[in-house]
Amino acid sequence: MSVLEARNIVKVYGKAEAEGATTALNGIQLSVTKGEFLAIMGPSGSGKTTLLNILSGIDKPTSGEVLLGGVMLHDMDANSLAQFRRKQLGFVFQDFNLLDSLTVKENIMLPMILEKKSVSEMEEKVQELAGLFEIEDILHKYPYHISGGQQQRTAVSRALVNDPQIIYADEPTGNLDSKSSTTIMECLEKVVKELSTTVLLVTHDVFAASYCQRIVFIRDGAIHSSLEKKSERTKF
Ligand code: ADP
Ligand code: ADP
Repeated sequence: MSVLEARNIVKVYGKAEAEGATTALNGIQLSVTKGEFLAIMGPSGSGKTTLLNILSGIDKPTSGEVLLGGVMLHDMDANSLAQFRRKQLGFVFQDFNLLDSLTVKENIMLPMILEKKSVSEMEEKVQELAGLFEIEDILHKYPYHISGGQQQRTAVSRALVNDPQIIYADEPTGNLDSKSSTTIMECLEKVVKELSTTVLLVTHDVFAASYCQRIVFIRDGAIHSSLEKKSERTKF
């Protein structure tokens, strides 16, 4: 079953007929199945950010369609789209974006508070994820009092609380040393293996991409090639 489907996505910045218009994406076709761990790689300027913005509904394609869980993203009005995104998408950013004025637990709960979930439901979810990512002992702490690895695990927990269809991870290892990169990638691998949640990673980092089952390479706004692992144990 396809969780995410991009159909012939074209994105032109600026008026197409005007001088200086840039074709950032030129007919992207992509189908991501449930529980897949997929990386999109490509050089700077190849269209990765544009694609991620379109796949998450932040930006509209010039033409083409994105279906998330069978729902056409760009047909929704702004309010429905915002609500849909809060429920169906989880984001993990390069610098994690934790709020310093909130504890780890409050950071994790925030997306559920916005969804007006009940206190018992929130408590249960926090405990489940804190157990999975081994952060039970730091739930009452503030982000500046925990380690980098713990911050990452908090950010991944927060991305998962509303049981999203898919997690988008944008250069999660971008600023990290190799030990921290390993931590975040092991976390995302756990998301796929233990929660069967789909993860789409956008990265420059070959080490990060090596955790994925499939790597799609984009170049000049088009899919250039892709690589797939034949089985769990195979390397690329
Ligand atoms: P990547 O994330 O792979 O570096 P981007 O999606 O940022 O690639 O950029 C793809 C192309 O689109 C580049 O040529 C870039 O200059 C252009 N581009 C990106 N954003 C804009 C924008 N807001 N306006 C005009 N051109 C843009
Ligand atoms: P752990 O012991 O859990 O692996 P550390 O405290 O040793 O984590 O931090 C590992 C690395 O992560 C350090 O190089 C640190 O600079 C980096 N790091 C810590 N917090 C952040 C953050 N918020 N964003 C990016 N990198 C971070």
